[in-house]
Amino acid sequence: MTPYQSDDFDDESWLAQEGLEPLGDEHFMRQALQLARTASEQDEVPVGAIVVLGNKIIAGAYNQREQLADPTAHAEMIAITQAASHLNSWRLLDCTLYVTLEPCPMCAGAILQSRIPRVVFGAVDPKAGAVVSLYQILSDSRLNHRCETLGNVLAPECGRVLTEFFDRKRKLGKK
Ligand SMILES: [Zn+2]
Repeated sequence: MTPYQSDDFDDESWLAQEGLEPLGDEHFMRQALQLARTASEQDEVPVGAIVVLGNKIIAGAYNQREQLADPTAHAEMIAITQAASHLNSWRLLDCTLYVTLEPCPMCAGAILQSRIPRVVFGAVDPKAGAVVSLYQILSDSRLNHRCETLGNVLAPECGRVLTEFFDRKRKLGKK
């Protein structure tokens, strides 16, 4: 969504007057962060993802690899499946995927398969990231689809959820 820009129109005050919050990338990343926190509470590596279509959240999920005993149960994979089922289409046209951690190669592949045009992520993943870190799958011109990406949105918060989770795990392991 392109925010309305005009000199004589202050959309922030208009939104406040209407009792609405500005729905920017940070707003939606906060929703994904909430899901990451839920994952952490359930002893899952805390990554959350949501799919937004026209300011509406149509899917939201968190990593459930342990609970589902499924190596493909990453937050993005579940959210993409939910969104496709919501739209009754495998093409997630006009959607934006928000995810708290840079997608891995599997999820980047699923993002291309679903034709999502825009991906916004939080923290970068130097060990497994396939958007900017290890690979640049979403912008590889040899593939038949590319998508717009924006990283580092609320990155400190998104990263902190993960480091706190692993710190806690390490401490428990030492007991
Ligand atoms: Zn993944």
